[in-house]
Amino acid sequence: MTSTEKTYEGSCHCKNVKFSVILATPIEEQNIINCNCTLCLDRGHLMFFAAGDKITVEGEEHLSTYSFYKKVIHYHFCKNCGSSLFGHDEGKTHYGINARSLHGVDLDKLKLVEYDGASA
Ligand SMILES: [Zn+2]
Repeated sequence: MTSTEKTYEGSCHCKNVKFSVILATPIEEQNIINCNCTLCLDRGHLMFFAAGDKITVEGEEHLSTYSFYKKVIHYHFCKNCGSSLFGHDEGKTHYGINARSLHGVDLDKLKLVEYDGASA
């Protein structure tokens, strides 16, 4: 880990599923995607992206999967509490992570970028 990297911890509501993600840029300096597509609206996602090798998931067996966008994007949520945590592509190279599932992050400090996913 280089000096600028920071590890963020997150979980679902019931804590059956926990994860940590290493970011090269602090979350407050990232563009957080506030997307208006049907899935993001329904789930209240505020998304940011990380490479698949930067995320570690504990309790994966508690996750259920909803496949979206021609069934190549897989979104995971907790089978027990329903929290929506993250999604990834077929090869798990990139993860889209719901910033609301992180601990110790002040959501008011995040730089939200509107994304018109509804028209994409
Ligand atoms: Zn849960």
